[in-house]
Amino acid sequence: MIKVQLFINGVWRDSSDGRTLPILNPATEEQIGTLAHASKADLDEALDAADQGFKTWRATSAFDRYKLIRKAAHILRSRCDEIARVMTQEQGKPLAEANIETLGAADTADWMAEEGRRTYGRIVPARGEGIYQLVIREPVGPVAAFTPWNFPINQIIRKLCAALATGCSIIIKAPEDTPASPAELIRCFADAGIPKGVIGLVYGVPSEISEYLIPHPVIRKITFTGSTAVGKMLAGLAGQHMKRATMELGGHAPVFVFDDADINVASRTMSAFKARNAGQVCVSPTRFLVHEKVFDNFVEKYTAGIKAIKVGNGLDAGVTMGPLVSERRVQAIDAMVGDARQKGGEILTGGNRMGNKGYFFEPTVVTNVSRDMQMMNEEPFGPVSLMIPFGDFDEAIEEANRLPFGLAAYAWTSSAKTAQALGAKVETGMMTINHLGLALPEVPFGGVKDSGYGSEGGTEALEAYLNTKFVSQSSV
Ligand code: NAD
Repeated sequence: MIKVQLFINGVWRDSSDGRTLPILNPATEEQIGTLAHASKADLDEALDAADQGFKTWRATSAFDRYKLIRKAAHILRSRCDEIARVMTQEQGKPLAEANIETLGAADTADWMAEEGRRTYGRIVPARGEGIYQLVIREPVGPVAAFTPWNFPINQIIRKLCAALATGCSIIIKAPEDTPASPAELIRCFADAGIPKGVIGLVYGVPSEISEYLIPHPVIRKITFTGSTAVGKMLAGLAGQHMKRATMELGGHAPVFVFDDADINVASRTMSAFKARNAGQVCVSPTRFLVHEKVFDNFVEKYTAGIKAIKVGNGLDAGVTMGPLVSERRVQAIDAMVGDARQKGGEILTGGNRMGNKGYFFEPTVVTNVSRDMQMMNEEPFGPVSLMIPFGDFDEAIEEANRLPFGLAAYAWTSSAKTAQALGAKVETGMMTINHLGLALPEVPFGGVKDSGYGSEGGTEALEAYLNTKFVSQSSV
């Protein structure tokens, strides 16, 4: 049995009132461990530690911070196999995906560590002699981070390393559905020798923790990844208390397939990508806007790709899609598919829960969709693809921009003119054309509109953890 503890002030420990929650394996519904639930006293201790930890860490040179983060990345790589196994058991994704996520996190840590050494200020030419105008970048202060269960490690590493690389301390409220792999991630940093108080790790009742941490005077910035509904609440609270915020929220990604696209490559690439993490991905391709001339051809080939997905326990060889994370998610997808059926949707494949044990749902393709369907408006966050024919460019753009979301978009076309027009017209934070090119550490990652604000990749990711101070200094 796995025992997940809190990490507060450099110590792994149970919660002060001994409360725990079970950890379930979504493929078997069996209990595989317990996690500690933080009490208010634990949160107070974590806040004091973060306050002290910030003083230590901001006084540590960027070069020493870089060395410690890279050491943690090295430890993470060396423990990848065990950590990925734990992730698959608590989250469900196939082992190969868990491995990629863990190794990818080490790459992100390396990149952010290096970039932290380049948080340059600047000198602005002055109007008078002997005056120096200095623009200084300083860490914003202790951060509170709230991360979800879909990428238990990846969602933490971007926030953790951007904070650490810029000299901030951080308290992470990690996901209660998938707590064990995050704890193993934090253990890599603890074992690398990050000073006590710089990182805190807690679990508990999400709303109780966010309502306590966000207004607290020690916390200077918050960062959240999760649903738009919760993000709006937390952003509101941050606003009331004048806290900086980064919000990485839901999406409903459009995929444009034009009549000049390579349909074989587009259908093969996108159907394999849809299986990733059982569609529980904020950038998962959802609304397939396909030119009517190639609609039947694309839908047939894409559906064949979806039918070839092998669903099962992520620990088993050959499985390309695991279960959903929880019973809650199975019910949500089931209700959305039911709603689509009732409103005239045609299910080309899938559409049902699978088996008697585990939170499995069939990869599903729906056609004959209409705008009044729930899944055409709300993020399905599961293995569901919607097929929508279009007649011309403007019609496709109108559908893509219809929803309040704007996170990721995909497109397939052999026309440079169409590609350029898409880049200009689609209301999105990220777009990838004729290949899958999102979510590398060195490029921006974030949304617009109801998908949130701020970026979790590229140099922008570090900007979010820095204040700008102006000092004008005269030698006389
Ligand atoms: P949910 O809204 O209950 O929770 C989503 C995440 O937010 C969880 O990690 C949860 O712990 C956290 N959360 C919820 N209420 C909170 C609060 N008051 N304070 C702080 N954290 C809080 O939904 P769910 O059933 O777990 O997931 C389904 C929905 O969440 C999806 O439809 C999707 O839109 C969204 N989601 C998005 C991402 C993402 O990568 N953007 C990841 C996971 C979930």
